[in-house]
Amino acid sequence: MTVVTRFAPSPTGTLHVGNVRTALHNWLWARKAGGRFLLRIDDTDAERSKEAYVDAIRADLAWLGLDIDGEERQSERFALYEAEFEKLKAAGRVYACYETPEELDIRRKVLLSRGLPPVYERKPFDAPVPEGVAPHWRFRLDHGAPIEWTDMVRGSQHFEPKTMSDPVVRRADGSWLYLLPSVIDDIAMGITHVVRGEDHVSNTAAQIQMFEALGARPPQFAHEALLIGTEGKLSKRLGSLGMAALRDAGIEPIALVALLARLGTSDPVEPVTAPAPLIESIDFARFGRAPARFDEAELALLNQKILHHTDYAAVADRLPVAITEARWNAIRPNLMTVAEATEWVVVFDGPFDGPVAEESDRPVLAAAAAAMPGIDWTADPWHALTAEVKEATGAKGRALFLPLRRALTGRDHGPDMAELLPLIDKGQAAERLSR
Ligand code: GLU
Repeated sequence: MTVVTRFAPSPTGTLHVGNVRTALHNWLWARKAGGRFLLRIDDTDAERSKEAYVDAIRADLAWLGLDIDGEERQSERFALYEAEFEKLKAAGRVYACYETPEELDIRRKVLLSRGLPPVYERKPFDAPVPEGVAPHWRFRLDHGAPIEWTDMVRGSQHFEPKTMSDPVVRRADGSWLYLLPSVIDDIAMGITHVVRGEDHVSNTAAQIQMFEALGARPPQFAHEALLIGTEGKLSKRLGSLGMAALRDAGIEPIALVALLARLGTSDPVEPVTAPAPLIESIDFARFGRAPARFDEAELALLNQKILHHTDYAAVADRLPVAITEARWNAIRPNLMTVAEATEWVVVFDGPFDGPVAEESDRPVLAAAAAAMPGIDWTADPWHALTAEVKEATGAKGRALFLPLRRALTGRDHGPDMAELLPLIDKGQAAERLSR
């Protein structure tokens, strides 16, 4: 069996972290099995779907490295839905309904006021058909056996169809609701695993009967717990946190991928620089049932950790030319974002207005300036320089290193000076010390 998964966004907005997580898990699962990962654009809602969002979804997936093996658009598949719908109609599994939303609402309220579940009540077969009213259509659930499946995340699932309303699958204007086209597509595209949020669990119960009614075996399902923000379930920020904002904040796609792959699972979040270990380790049995908490601060920290061992080749095209491989390797332990590398160009090559030295630091700096002409810049200049200054002034430890670091880099903290100093222009270094 070739594993086939799909990510099925509605192009009514840009992707946010929550749906990127779903896309990622589908992608990881397909890649692990050597299968296929499809993008299905759920654009049956012509009014709310926008071409710009379709483009943005493709661009975001590409940025994240989630390559797709095919793309389908629901708006191009209406003929298939129509044909399958006719089959279900002929088999009596979809039926016409004429209630107005107001009638349905009143019915619901009556049932609730009697303490009954607000389940849709089918009309008798011979109920009069109102004239001149276009019907909408419901799928007739089979009230026989319970609906059961073993969910890859949630384990054994059980629904009594009697307690469920027959779902509306088509509106009076002929437009489609999500449920049925999704099943028709999952069958036609040979989807073997449906990975989506747990908000779809009750849809799945109805959809399992749709698969069966269309003569297909349902795929496997994995319903993952929802993602919540640090401030709790209804995080507006999280719901709108898009890839553009993360990209602008200097977040590397692999950092987001590394976090979202493991968040809410029993595997630790690890600062990987490529997705291979994440592909290898994905296992829905290790996903928790509790909501996964997404923390932007955790993402920023992970991003930083990943940069610390990110190869030059992976970022070279985004670095100023002055940042060579050796310079990248020296500064990367001190970067929060790749963009910050630019700030180091002046440290290496100037022009550079160092801080005004404190009075107490002057003897150290004067001794260093005096020693500079004799320092061989090609052979460990930092140790040679500090040895000379120590000899001349007796300064040691922090009192020796900090004034030098400050004068040479303009900062109190930073990369290992032994690694950094030979990468700084020698003339610039001499000037900074003698200033
Ligand atoms: N378009 C649906 C959604 O975004 C797809 C759900 C599914 O994966 O079946 O909720």
